[in-house]
Amino acid sequence: MNPAKRREIFSRLRAANPHPTTELEYATPFELLVAVVLSAQATDKGVNLATRRLFPVANTPEAIYALGEAGLADYIKSIGLYKSKARHLIAACRMLVEQHGSRVPAERAALEALPGVGRKTANVILNTAFGQPTMAVDTHIFRVANRTGLAPGKTVLEVEKKLLKTIPAEFRIDAHHWLILHGRYVCQARKPKCPECIIADLCEYKDKRV
Ligand code: SF4
Repeated sequence: MNPAKRREIFSRLRAANPHPTTELEYATPFELLVAVVLSAQATDKGVNLATRRLFPVANTPEAIYALGEAGLADYIKSIGLYKSKARHLIAACRMLVEQHGSRVPAERAALEALPGVGRKTANVILNTAFGQPTMAVDTHIFRVANRTGLAPGKTVLEVEKKLLKTIPAEFRIDAHHWLILHGRYVCQARKPKCPECIIADLCEYKDKRV
């Protein structure tokens, strides 16, 4: 895909949604960290239902650590893999309290050292809580990047690197959310809504439904 097309794609996505953000509900970097850890293989809606009950009771590393694994599990058991997520979060809270003054670190290495936090989660935190131009490639972004021709790649890391290298600087902070939302609501896995897609004429997907 040539640079002019790429710029036009992001110009249109920005015009349609000038201030995109995550659909996870959060008020602090720590709440976002909890929500993102819970969101693995779960829907944002399901996570929001759980955190709406959890955060009024416990929304700091100390408070969640004090709940203990079983106490935390009670709040999140509607979410898949809740037992291991509770275990990871309690361990992460402990590290935050003991090593980071109860604050969420804004550095990749420190984030990825937290239990339950991998590269993708770290990218979401760095981007959404700290405004860094990272690209958390999830299943939606992976699909959209490959279909459109924006950044074809066989692995999420390859797609992440290509996107970061080729997206014009002015779009880099928000690109992550535009691509996720486009994949979630328009360029869907089984039935992409090509006829109503605002970048259909720029997309290089050979099986476009037009
Ligand atoms: S035209 Fe179709 S395949 Fe291309 S981005 Fe839009 S929805 Fe996805």
